[in-house]
Amino acid sequence: MTKRGWIDNPSAALKIGEGFRLADVDPDSTPGYRGDKHSGAKDLASGFEELDELQERLFADSRAGVAKDSVLLVLQAMDSAGKGGIIRHVVGGVDPQGVTLAAFGAPTAEELSHDFLWRVEKHLPKPGFIGVFDRSHYEDVLVAKVRDLAEPAEIERRYGAINDFEARIAASGTRIVKVMLHISPEAQKKRLMERLDRPDKHWKFNPADTDDRLLWPDYMEAYQAMFERTSTDFAPWHVVPADSKWYARLAVQELLLEALEDIDPQWPAANFDIEAERARLEAS
Ligand code: ATP
Ligand code: MG
Repeated sequence: MTKRGWIDNPSAALKIGEGFRLADVDPDSTPGYRGDKHSGAKDLASGFEELDELQERLFADSRAGVAKDSVLLVLQAMDSAGKGGIIRHVVGGVDPQGVTLAAFGAPTAEELSHDFLWRVEKHLPKPGFIGVFDRSHYEDVLVAKVRDLAEPAEIERRYGAINDFEARIAASGTRIVKVMLHISPEAQKKRLMERLDRPDKHWKFNPADTDDRLLWPDYMEAYQAMFERTSTDFAPWHVVPADSKWYARLAVQELLLEALEDIDPQWPAANFDIEAERARLEAS
């Protein structure tokens, strides 16, 4: 069943399948959706109410101690693809007390002294929560591969370690929603240039982003390898075209909605005698 302007379930339209080639995805396309920017804004608002209620139910279950499930949204992308906008405009719509957000930058000396999954494990969402990873353990097979931060054999080991790790957390009740926001190099150039043109955006510009940009083909190759090695039934990758910000936000919102609908959280039953409490409150 599809909703709003979706012709296909976004998970079906965006999940990578057998023989997937990143190079074949047009970053300016809007797969599975039949509307435009205008209807997209309306659909985002309507999905927002649904997301808010589902998240509140899930969180209520955690308060009542009956939640087993959680959602983990993993966001990966080249710079300026819109991770921040997803966090602000999609995840930002729900009650922040039910959300845990972790951003992963270059590892500290302490983090480097442990296995690469060590720092990630600490930020997994507890039952009843939506966790968001702004970058993730996947940097350890992306930037690490592109910049030779690890030996090829170690990168190989990591793909398997990631699959084992995700299988374990999926089995314990976490719905893992993995998203690569796919921007074109042309759109990135425009967005980075705007950061230089506007004083209110200078703070967002990082000269290192241009260094990564110069390695674009290497990054695309690392993403392709990552998809081939770590897209699994229990934690599939979705490639979300991101040149249109409105589409990317709508698509990620729907992916989150699908994960929550799959959990189908119910309002927890009262753990007290409702009538007795009513009488007591009336008499007070
Ligand atoms: P913004 O959109 O605000 O720039 P960002 O995610 O790019 O957000 P930054 O703090 O600019 O945040 O960049 C984080 C940097 O840390 C990225 O360049 C990323 O490649 C790097 N990084 C993240 N994880 C690792 C890792 N495991 N090893 C090496 N570098 C890493
Ligand atoms: Mg950056």
